[in-house]
Amino acid sequence: MSRILFDSVTKVYGEDILAVDEFDLGIDEGEFLTLVGPSGSGKSTLLRMVAGLEEITDGEIQIGDTTVNRLPPRNRDIAMVFQNYALYPHLTVSENMAFGLKRSTELPSGEIDERVEEAAELMGIGDLLDQKPKHLSGGQRQRVATGRAIVRDPAVFLFDEPLSNLDAKLRKHMRTQLQRLQQTLETTTIYVTHDQEEAMTMSDRIAILNEGTLQQVGSPRQVYNRPENAFVAQFIGSPSMNMFVAELDRTGDRPRFTGDIEVDVSERRAESVASHSNADQFLLGIRPEHIEVHERATSESVPAYVDIIEPLGSNDLLYFELEDGIGVDGVVAEDVDIGADEEGDEEEYKVFIEPGSIPNRYENGDTPVYLTFDTEHVHVFDPQTGENLDNERLSATESRTGSAKGAGD
Ligand code: ADP
Repeated sequence: MSRILFDSVTKVYGEDILAVDEFDLGIDEGEFLTLVGPSGSGKSTLLRMVAGLEEITDGEIQIGDTTVNRLPPRNRDIAMVFQNYALYPHLTVSENMAFGLKRSTELPSGEIDERVEEAAELMGIGDLLDQKPKHLSGGQRQRVATGRAIVRDPAVFLFDEPLSNLDAKLRKHMRTQLQRLQQTLETTTIYVTHDQEEAMTMSDRIAILNEGTLQQVGSPRQVYNRPENAFVAQFIGSPSMNMFVAELDRTGDRPRFTGDIEVDVSERRAESVASHSNADQFLLGIRPEHIEVHERATSESVPAYVDIIEPLGSNDLLYFELEDGIGVDGVVAEDVDIGADEEGDEEEYKVFIEPGSIPNRYENGDTPVYLTFDTEHVHVFDPQTGENLDNERLSATESRTGSAKGAGD
């Protein structure tokens, strides 16, 4: 068990492919930290630098108190589990699990056998020890690969998308199993995934990467409730946060965001937003669970047209369009990535509703429904920098209510 420290770690491939840019992060002893981000954001590169499979261009990585930049992989006391399992096909499960230990230690074979049996027991594969990998299912191979890591009793576990090749049900099951295992062994763990749901459900803390740059690190609840920028806001949470455009109008009795949506805000909040940004227009982010849908208009509501209603079981997901919406295109600066998915459908707005609460006839899109927004849960982002202009208020609210206990920075 060891802490891990990244100090301004940079990786450049070839002449000019900047894969990781001055990455700073400390991981505590026994912590389960997930690196999450879209494909190509630098997650595997970071993990491979910890493992010693990739040279560090600049900066320093420490495991425990040792700077490992120049240490060969076998001297780093780590065990890595890959997506493709990397088992030796001609060896049995037990030989696969023992292989690393036999090569790297002087342990007597009796002790090695004992460790293999213990790890196999932990992974629930005790009855497969004499099988060859080709006779195993994907889930069983994954368990063997993890078992092989446990046998080494390393200071650090490194997981690189270990569950990607499994079907959805097995993946969920293995998530829980890996999480429990990590809690039992208390081995410092870095887990890489592109799947934000996996990151949210498994980790103590999540580090979110985009284009080689660390966007935010925090507990699952913290990054969900207090995204530091528009990228994190959209990347974390499924379905993703809706983004609207509005101006801050301070000419009336009360300050009000007005544009795609209408939201009243307090004088203090308007002041705070205005003091943090010179923008004329803002991005307002609001999660699908913080919008209410009504059949009748109110003084606060905006009309919206139902695209489709998708039953999800415990609630329905209603997709809507706005009447003459401004849309985020042209408002967000070109170099600000707001994390909208690849199809570019960032303007596909969504809201959760009670099953059946909005009749299907609205789906023809002729008759509007009316939306109101929970002001407290509207995030305000600067469209030029992507920065969340509201985080001070959110953190103040959280510490008052104690809802983010243990999630301090
Ligand atoms: P992720 O794991 O988040 O998908 P990677 O760490 O694999 O991202 O890649 C980060 C960036 O580095 C990408 O732009 C990728 O194309 C580039 N890259 C990764 N490996 C190499 C390599 N061996 N040679 C050149 N470029 C690479």
